[in-house]
Amino acid sequence: MNKEYDVIVVGAGPGGCSAAICLARRGCDVLLLEKEQFPRGKVCGDGISPPALETLDRLGILPEIIGKSPWKIDGLVISSPAGQAVTASFSHLKGPFPFGLVMPRREFDFLVLQQARKYSNIEILENWEVKDFIDQNGSVRGVKAQSDGRKGEFLAKFLVGADGAYSVVARKTVSREKKFQQGAFGIRAYFKGVKGLTHQSEIHCDRAILPGYGWVFPTGEDSANVGVGIASRHLKENNIRNLFQTFVEGTPFVKERLRGARMVENSLQGGPIPLGSFFRRRSRKNVLLVGDAGGFTDVLTGEGIYFALRSGECAAEAIHSALKSPEEMEKVGRIYEGLWRNALRSREFLFGSFVQRLIVREFFLNRNIARALKKPSMALNLASILCHQKTKMGLLF
Ligand SMILES: Cc1cc2nc3c(=O)[nH]c(=O)nc-3n(C[C@H](O)[C@H](O)[C@H](O)COP(=O)(O)OP(=O)(O)OC[C@H]3O[C@@H](n4cnc5c(N)ncnc54)[C@H](O)[C@@H]3O)c2cc1C
Repeated sequence: MNKEYDVIVVGAGPGGCSAAICLARRGCDVLLLEKEQFPRGKVCGDGISPPALETLDRLGILPEIIGKSPWKIDGLVISSPAGQAVTASFSHLKGPFPFGLVMPRREFDFLVLQQARKYSNIEILENWEVKDFIDQNGSVRGVKAQSDGRKGEFLAKFLVGADGAYSVVARKTVSREKKFQQGAFGIRAYFKGVKGLTHQSEIHCDRAILPGYGWVFPTGEDSANVGVGIASRHLKENNIRNLFQTFVEGTPFVKERLRGARMVENSLQGGPIPLGSFFRRRSRKNVLLVGDAGGFTDVLTGEGIYFALRSGECAAEAIHSALKSPEEMEKVGRIYEGLWRNALRSREFLFGSFVQRLIVREFFLNRNIARALKKPSMALNLASILCHQKTKMGLLF
């Protein structure tokens, strides 16, 4: 007879580890299944925002991360198609961490998983890929997984899908409907020998790559994660590799500084960014989706680490309250929907997608950045909006 866990978490990225740690702290018996062996890479800009640091602090991981001396970020430079650049400083942000970090995901995710290993009630199985689900009266009773040709079945009362943008949990158990889903795609590479890097991350909305945008996120004094992202609806008429090439070779803010720099071999890789949707369903019966599996990323920037960590916390809270009283078991999905909508301000997904469609236009970008240069309070506002402390609607006025 197979052991029954309280919860199976599929995927050990930031979303899965956050859920597992929060569940373990509440005394739940957790199985964390991960198809890769860590440390493993993940295509990302590697930017960890101030709100993400608050969540990492709650999870007890921040000291270890800071201990590795990642590159500290004290603001964001945003440049317009007209060539003007404004700095949105983080110094005035509310909260204990008015700064961000850049840390390659291979290192960051490994540290987060190491934290999960500290809990004896989290069993971690790496190299185990979840392929299918065990159904019982319309609810998920467990998962079917494979590892190097071996097959295994694992049972649990609840399932958390934290298996990223291509989530098998989402596809097979929750979001069979496709409507209202929206996405973006990003591509990045690591460069060494980059000139003129500071403690500011950079976002460049160059005319040549609109409606996409490019970023330079410093990972050290002369090394950076450089990439471009674009909403998937524009991908038909834009080849993302060409956009990347245009960005690194043609963008005034970037090309001089990359001249003579070396792209790290095999580091040019792309991946989907499932932009947050107000409408999308993140739960079904005893299954909850967190992070990219649930389509939780910021609709303007594609930031997803904070959303993965935070939705993991919400899923753990919902499951814990359902486990406490049997009559709540049925309501776990509803509890979770309420918690994440409140914590992640779900209306911002709605406003954000509206704002995003307007803001990627040259006129808006030029106007807003020119105005922010004249009015310092607007630049401060920009940082608050990007760090989820103010509504995105503020970008339109
Ligand atoms: C180009 C690009 C740039 C980005 N830049 C940033 C940025 O700078 N800052 C930021 O905050 N966000 C950024 N994001 C978004 C961010 O990378 C994601 O939102 C974040 O990784 C989501 O975390 P997660 O835990 O939900 O999923 P993931 O980090 O994808 O982890 C999912 C895990 O599940 C495992 N898994 C998958 N399928 C299975 C299975 N069947 N069985 C078992 N395990 C499985 C995977 O191996 C993986 O370890 C970027 C994304 C892209 C594509």
